[in-house]
Formats: sequence, structure tokens, C-alpha cells
Amino acid sequence: MKRVLLVLVVVLVGLAAAVVTRTLGVHSRQATVTPVAPEPLDSTVLAQRLAGALKFKTVSYQDSTQFEAREFEGFQRYLRESFPKVHATLKLEKVNGYGLLYQWVGSDTGLAPAVLLAHQDVVPIEPGTEGKWTEPPFGGAITAGYIWGRGALDDKGSLVAILEAVEHLISTGAKPRRTVYLAFGYDEEVGGRRGAARIADLLVSRHLHPEFVLDEGGALATGLIPGVAAPVALVGIAEKGYVTVELTAQAEGGHSSMPPNETAVGMLAAGITRLEHHQMPRAIRGPTADMFDFLGPEMPFGPRLVMSNRWLLGGILAAGFGATPQGNAMLRTTTAPTVLQAGVKENVLPSTARALVNFRILPGDSAGSVLEHVQRAVDDPRITVRALQETVSDPSGVTSVDAEPFQLLARTIRQVIPGAVVTPWLVVGATDSRHYSVLTPNVLRFVGAPIGADDLRRVHGTDERVSVQGYVNSVRIYIQLLKNAAL
Ligand SMILES: [Zn+2]
Repeated sequence: MKRVLLVLVVVLVGLAAAVVTRTLGVHSRQATVTPVAPEPLDSTVLAQRLAGALKFKTVSYQDSTQFEAREFEGFQRYLRESFPKVHATLKLEKVNGYGLLYQWVGSDTGLAPAVLLAHQDVVPIEPGTEGKWTEPPFGGAITAGYIWGRGALDDKGSLVAILEAVEHLISTGAKPRRTVYLAFGYDEEVGGRRGAARIADLLVSRHLHPEFVLDEGGALATGLIPGVAAPVALVGIAEKGYVTVELTAQAEGGHSSMPPNETAVGMLAAGITRLEHHQMPRAIRGPTADMFDFLGPEMPFGPRLVMSNRWLLGGILAAGFGATPQGNAMLRTTTAPTVLQAGVKENVLPSTARALVNFRILPGDSAGSVLEHVQRAVDDPRITVRALQETVSDPSGVTSVDAEPFQLLARTIRQVIPGAVVTPWLVVGATDSRHYSVLTPNVLRFVGAPIGADDLRRVHGTDERVSVQGYVNSVRIYIQLLKNAAL
């Protein structure tokens, strides 16, 4: 017995020594850079130009017949008037109606181009919430140090900041060596198939192989990562896939006065319950593993120890990180029943009951593997399982953090925001950038606007806004990126 205890103690001491050695051995992955002097920009003028852009109701509706062409035309006219140098210097092509593709031709045709993406459209205001806004959603108000309105963060803030950066560089006499494309779709919020997808098709037909593509998807998080006081630049290196699965249960219909033991509604409900109890497995891998590699060294000793010893403590880390819906979404393919349909009358048994379950697919899984999982978990031959093909989009590829584009963006961010911690990130939503993945392996998703815990509900919600200072810094990041990458 003593011997067993002794062995146990030796093993534990050995493990502890290995864990501590490894923790002390990890070193920061942050690029060493010299901060640049802040680019002189007029905050008031910049804020007003963004505010003006937020007044156009360039809303994407699920029903495309509601598309309001006049709002998009007005918005594009506003861009021409607000950024005269951009429009005098860059080539502009309209793609499939309202898609905008600008080309700033570089002098060195041997360099692969850079492509900056943003989208012109915004989500609607949820009916009944208009009155809850501090400032009207399409009023373009600037108060209390913020620019208010739908699109301030998603994604006109980015679109206008990109144009602002190019306008500024042209005014300083800059001429690019590397060709820069600016590509602005107009239906990102409903899938991007008319805008971004068509622009990407055009670039494919021209055999373009960009050095990198930069889109929205990550931001400068302030106070969102416990243990890191500095702003954390979340650079999306991948995004989850998407599939909605339809479950249909069939049973005898008839009069509800003589129901059978099992009804379509009951079978379907049981199937959904089994599905919720059998989630896709949780795993720290790919972009999320990269994130812990980058964040760990910046953390206090305790969390650093856990993050850098995932070989031993991965389960604890996953359980802790996965305890919130946001954390959970970064660790697994998520299961979300969203639609239930059955029955037409309260005393008639429905012969079919239908449910839609939305899955967001972790890189490494696929729409095919999700479907297999659903069939296994539901485990009832009376329930047919089928993927809604029009919704299928597999997870994106994962951009290498060692490749130059990620490194270049990381250096740029730290030059402009000294002390910022840069980390790779898994985008759990979908962006227009997925349509560009055929063009280049280097797809990055980051906008330099600051996001606090409070802002997450504002995107697509009430009181969307961006701070004037944060917005101006996001313009500075684009300026510095273009200097580093293209000039
Ligand atoms: Zn967006």
C-alpha cells in the first residue's frame, strides 16, 4: 500500500513539475513592433461622414422583393460625393446591379493584390423596437462621443473607414505598388449570393489570386477576455459552416378523441429531445486551439497554466470555457431547434409534424457529418431527416497564423494600438468572406472598431453605435495596413 502511495506521489510531483515547466516555458506570440505616430485625422469630419452614411436605409430583407433600390442608389451617390479622390483615382465597376468593385491599380503587377471587403446592407430594425433607440436608427446622430445608427458596427463603419483610409492616402500623394481591390456586396445579411458571391465569381474569372482578403468578423475586444486588461484584437482566421436540417415525423392522422399511443407531434418532440441530449462533441482544435496558444502567455499564472497544458487540462479548459453559450459555440458544432410546425385544428391529429434545426458547423466537421450525427441521435425510422440544401455552407478553411498576411495584420494592429493583444479567432457567424475562399487561403476577418460586452447585443439589436475615437482608430488601422501591405 505504501508503495502504491509512493508511486502516486512521484507521478503527481512529476506531472506538476512538467505542468509548471511548460507554463514557464511558453512565450508571448505577440509581434514586437515600434508604435507609429497617430495619423493626423479630423475626428469631427470623419464622424460626420460616417453618420451621413448611416442615414440610408440599405436594409436587406429575407424577402428580396422588398429590396429598396433607391436607398442603395442614394447611398452610392453619397459615397461618390464624400470620397471624390477615391472616385477620381480608382476604377469602379458595378457588379450585378449594386455590388461595388473598386480597383486601385498598383505599379508592380508582379505583386498579388490585396482585397478589402465590407457590405453596404444592414439588418432591419425589429418592429416595435424603434422607440427603444436612444437616437433614431437611421438618424445619423453624433452624441456623447458616439456615432449612432444601424450599420455603425455592422458594417458601414468598416466600409466607410476603408474609403476614408484610401481617400486620406491619396491626399498625401500615396501610390500603391500592390493593387488594392475594395469589394462591397449588398446582401451579406441574407447570404451574400447576389453581391459578394458575384464579385468573387468575377475575380475568379479574371484568375485573380489575392495575397489576402480582409473582411469583418473580428473586432477589438475591450474587457471581453477575463484576465487580459489590454484590448484584444480578435482576428478571425476561420468561420463556422451552416446547415439547417429538416425533421419530419409521419403518423396516423384522425380524430383526437381516439389518439394512438404515439403521435407525430410526440415522436418529433422526442426526436428533438434526443438531439439536444446528444450534442456534437466538444473539442479544442483548429482556430480555438490557436487562440489559446496566443492568449495563454498574456494571462495571469493560473489560466496560463491551464491554457498551456491542454495535453493534461484540456477537459477542464473546455468545460470552463464552454460554460457560456459564446464559449460553447467556439468548441463544437451547435444544435439549435428553431422552427416547429404541426396541426391545423385543436381536435385533429396532424399526420405530419415538421421541425427545423439549425447547426453551426465547427471547422473539422461538415454538413455531411452533421447529417449522419442527426440520423444517429434521432434514431427513429419514422422521422425523415434531410438537409435544406440551399442553406448548406461547410466551414471555411483555416488561415495560417504563420503566413505573412496574418503576421502583417498583427504587426499593423500593434503599431496603431500599442499594447493590444492580437489573437486568432473563430468567427461563429457567417460573413461575405466565405465567397472568396476559392481565391486565396489567406482570409482574415477583423475590423478595428472596439467592441465591449455591452456592444454584442447592439449588433443586429437596439442602439447600435461606435465611439468616435474607436472609429477613428479603425481608420488608422486601415491606413497603416495599406502602408504596410501595398505602398
Ligand atoms: Zn456584417
